[in-house]
Amino acid sequence: MSISSRVIYLDSNATTPVMPLALEAARAVMEDDYGNPSSVHSSGLQAKAVMEQARATACDLLGCSEGKLLFVSGATEGIQTAVFSALLALREKQAQDEKVGTDLLYGATEHKAVPESLHHWNTVLNLNFRILAIPVDNAGRHDLKFIEEHIQDAGLICTMAANNETGVITDLVSIENLIKDSPAYWLVDGVQALGKLPLKLNQHRIDYSLFSGHKLYAPKGIGMLYVHKDAPFTPLLAGGGQESSLRSGTENVSGIAALGAVMKALGDGISFRDHATLSRYRLQLLEAMRDAFPGLILNASLEESLPTTLNFSVPGLTSKEILDLFDAADVRVSAGSACSAAKAQPSFVLQAMALPEWQAASAVRVSFGPATTQDYIDEACKRVRVCGEALRKTCMVTGDIEPLPADGVMQLSFGAACTWIIANAATKECVVIDPLPELIERIAKYMRCQHYSVKAVLATNSHPQQDLHNSSLIKLLADAYSGAQNDDPSGFYTDSNSSSLESSEKYLSLGKMKIRKLDSQLQTETHFVYLYGSTESQIQFAFCGDVLRNERLSNEQRSDIENQFSKHTLICVAHDFEKQLVSRLESSQECKLEDVTIPSSGLNEFLRTHPGTVMVDVREPYEQQLSHFDVPAGTEVLHVPLSRLANGVDRWLRTEDHAKAPLLFFCRTGGRSSQAVQCLRRLGYANAWHIAGGLALWQH
Ligand code: PLP
Repeated sequence: MSISSRVIYLDSNATTPVMPLALEAARAVMEDDYGNPSSVHSSGLQAKAVMEQARATACDLLGCSEGKLLFVSGATEGIQTAVFSALLALREKQAQDEKVGTDLLYGATEHKAVPESLHHWNTVLNLNFRILAIPVDNAGRHDLKFIEEHIQDAGLICTMAANNETGVITDLVSIENLIKDSPAYWLVDGVQALGKLPLKLNQHRIDYSLFSGHKLYAPKGIGMLYVHKDAPFTPLLAGGGQESSLRSGTENVSGIAALGAVMKALGDGISFRDHATLSRYRLQLLEAMRDAFPGLILNASLEESLPTTLNFSVPGLTSKEILDLFDAADVRVSAGSACSAAKAQPSFVLQAMALPEWQAASAVRVSFGPATTQDYIDEACKRVRVCGEALRKTCMVTGDIEPLPADGVMQLSFGAACTWIIANAATKECVVIDPLPELIERIAKYMRCQHYSVKAVLATNSHPQQDLHNSSLIKLLADAYSGAQNDDPSGFYTDSNSSSLESSEKYLSLGKMKIRKLDSQLQTETHFVYLYGSTESQIQFAFCGDVLRNERLSNEQRSDIENQFSKHTLICVAHDFEKQLVSRLESSQECKLEDVTIPSSGLNEFLRTHPGTVMVDVREPYEQQLSHFDVPAGTEVLHVPLSRLANGVDRWLRTEDHAKAPLLFFCRTGGRSSQAVQCLRRLGYANAWHIAGGLALWQH
């Protein structure tokens, strides 16, 4: 299933590569026309000519022969300058006792640069104006009624031309109709519209509009700010008087030349695809996505969004899982939401659209640039389908491919909460402990896909809610459930005072392994512990739920429970707030991450000085399926996904000390491998390390 290593970049709303003609224009300036445009000698004049040519091309394209078009460092600077200028003008008018609107309105889905600028300048200028978000509907459209009702009190209104997350296009004409008689200034963020939508600025009453070069094949650090001829303007930067004293600082001439080259190309009718072609490309991508992710739900309608943007969610898959999957196949997309390591933060844009929480928290954005070619889209679709195959093979979605069997102890998480699954690939049987409501459907599908029979669905607490979740899972499992029908498995597990599973009178077997409920006269009525291990050895795993963190547990009860564990027993909890993965009764001290981190550049040196190192890939099976990476010859690589690390930990810790090989963990970015190495170190495995930045840096 290996695929070529060329990156397919589908994150153009974040940034784009610099297109060759822009690169050439920038190179020519840096090498040939490198004069300072303020210099009066020939080199200076040549640089100035390059700049003015770029401005003229851009003005032509944007239809702004009237007004100013300034080169700035990017959209954020453009927004600052516009907001600063507008608010100062409002303050001056107020000072002259003119009646001005003092509400600052902005679309609830604007890029953060807009509301942050409003708040910033409102505070810095000590204005105390009211800042109001214009609500949007389910489709991401501005609430026109709200605008109509508030425009008479507004001093400034900010509405983006197209949204960066969803691609939703703003109905600027309707907004213009509503505000045409208002003196409020109007700022239109044109960043995502440039090159994708026709925009003739002088035909509208727009006061400020801004653009960012790096969103359209020019380099980072260059942008444009349009200011209507009658709109107030105050320079943000004072100094050498560049840009007719409106924006001081030596101009970024190479960036301007590159942006000028892109603007010229936009008008040549060859370099960029038209709307219909881009829409066709997007549809083709969507079909591939639907093949890979059955049940995909679009978060914005195709008709009302940029033809280069798709934003979707997949029931049962998180954005991080999809991102990791794509990244392993060298396909770059982004989460519609910003993900923190601890928990995916739902997208504020999708939240503003009042989409269901799961949709807002698991959105994926796919975006391509308007110069994309048919070949590129074809290759992208091929890769997306290969990703779909990897998902089916690992039972992340159901399909017709024979799956890779899962074996051993697996941890599924939702936030800090954990469901544990114990699977036996040989007998195709498994047990589920504490199914989380968010994961129930996925678990049921997974079991059916794996053709596993679920022998029990257990709970580590007697909460009626958990009972409900367990019953729901059993219902969904239907034929895949072979446990007791009264779904009270406690009957399986009775008396035993022994710490060995062997002598338990009643237990549940999974092949040669056994699971039993910890039996104790002192155990709380509301918490249960399940012990799991082979008949020959001691208890390997204890599924403790939250009992050990229960403050009401007496010392006697605690030691009664703990006495049944061995020093090797790995404790698996229901809430892993500290991201420990697994723990033991006796843990070593926490290690400092920097002491166990190997920089990607130091890998070869590490392997040379640590003979026998085993590299451990902790990415999930669907990522491992897709990945192709090089390791130094002779290096052993083990695949132990983080969700199944418990099995590896159990094995590694039981190894005789002299045979404990150096373990070097890696993943995609270094996040998961840092968790793995800290877990191993905490449990006393001193010879464990991880690679900073993961494959993203090491294979770069
Ligand atoms: N506005 C929109 C709609 C954007 O998408 C972005 C960048 O993501 C910005 C403003 C800010 O652009 P820059 O970071 O280039 O200043």
